[in-house]
Amino acid sequence: MTENVAASSNKEPIRASEFDPKFKYELIKMHGGEGLLKCYQCGTCTSDCPVARFSDDYRPRTIIRMAQLGLKDRILKSGTLWLCAACFTCTDRCPQDVEVASVIRVLRNLAAENGCVPQVFKDQACSILESGYAYKIPDLRIKKRESMGLPPLPKGNPEAIRKSLKGVNFMRYIEKKSERNE
Ligand code: SF4
Ligand code: SF4
Repeated sequence: MTENVAASSNKEPIRASEFDPKFKYELIKMHGGEGLLKCYQCGTCTSDCPVARFSDDYRPRTIIRMAQLGLKDRILKSGTLWLCAACFTCTDRCPQDVEVASVIRVLRNLAAENGCVPQVFKDQACSILESGYAYKIPDLRIKKRESMGLPPLPKGNPEAIRKSLKGVNFMRYIEKKSERNE
């Protein structure tokens, strides 16, 4: 792993210049972001989130509030945004029908468009495109399987994956360097 995904800039003091009052209006126009303004910060999403339970930093309620406040750069650069497991528990439990998981997806898409994908996910994506597997299977493990009489692992189909991702210009997001971090 080449980057600490959990690294976050969210603990730095917030400057007045960081607030972008138009950001929330951009988000509510996007599919999945429509309910953002209905959040009244009850905390149900955070209390039921299986990732928040094991993280000191990851709080979906905080992400939603930051989005409402327009802390765009801070959210898009935050590694914690990428910790969501997309289980949709928060969306199911929100009393205000905020599609929390979808808001997070929208924010991730924006982060990717701005070159803010953590290196670990870029590495995984490259591995999938090359081999069809998210991680390179070590030769030692392949030999161990053979010695135990286990069948060979199924072959990945990276060509098919590359073909399906071509339409969404996926490589652009993997190769793009962070404009915001430069
Ligand atoms: S559960 Fe819904 S209303 Fe409550 S904090 Fe989360 S997003 Fe906001
Ligand atoms: S979808 Fe993400 S934020 Fe929502 S409960 Fe699951 S891990 Fe937590």
